[in-house]
Amino acid sequence: MIIAIDGPAASGKGTLGKRLSEHFGFAHLDTGLLYRAVARVMLDREIALAERDAAHEVALNLDVTHLDDPRLRGAQIGEAASVVSGYQPVRDALLAFQRQFAEQPPGAVLDGRDIGTVVCPHADVKLFITAAPEERARRRHLELLKRGEQTEYATILEDIRRRDERDMNRATAPLKPAADAIILDTTHLDAEAAFQAALDLVKAKVA
Ligand code: C5P
Repeated sequence: MIIAIDGPAASGKGTLGKRLSEHFGFAHLDTGLLYRAVARVMLDREIALAERDAAHEVALNLDVTHLDDPRLRGAQIGEAASVVSGYQPVRDALLAFQRQFAEQPPGAVLDGRDIGTVVCPHADVKLFITAAPEERARRRHLELLKRGEQTEYATILEDIRRRDERDMNRATAPLKPAADAIILDTTHLDAEAAFQAALDLVKAKVA
């Protein structure tokens, strides 16, 4: 069984994906980490993000065994990931791994931007998680503060708006709900209520 979860930056889809995977005993892949890992290598090697061919090369040779590296979670990496993820060859290079991951028994939960539309168009359940930009910025701000990153709420809100704009309007795999996705707005839900709502939707769908 495949559960596809898409949504904008800081919508809580990662947390939901993790909890749903634990609930069902499925594997979980936060696909944003793949683009973050590509961006990380580019930054570490001091390659300009505008170097499309280099980004493609990095994606083709990406080591996917270190996706739990906390350095991938920073705000600067999210921004850089949003740039390299706009390159079609980069997306193509990461597609086979994601599809293979999705096929593993007894099931998998993948979260990202294009899981329901491109990576797993035949997923059993497709959720599109969203929340108001101000609420997403508030949550991301708290999360970064907890991790010891000193950032301003206003800067994060600006970053989220810029990333939404870029992710939604790019030519390749733009962020949008699949026609058969169920939309869950978590603006007024805390993490627990959001999980319960998502769980109910998944259960209703596969019943
Ligand atoms: O979800 P996260 O914030 O970690 O993603 C970082 C960036 O990677 C996003 O802004 C988006 O541009 C890109 N991404 C994507 N497709 C995915 C997951 C993430 O283009 N499936």
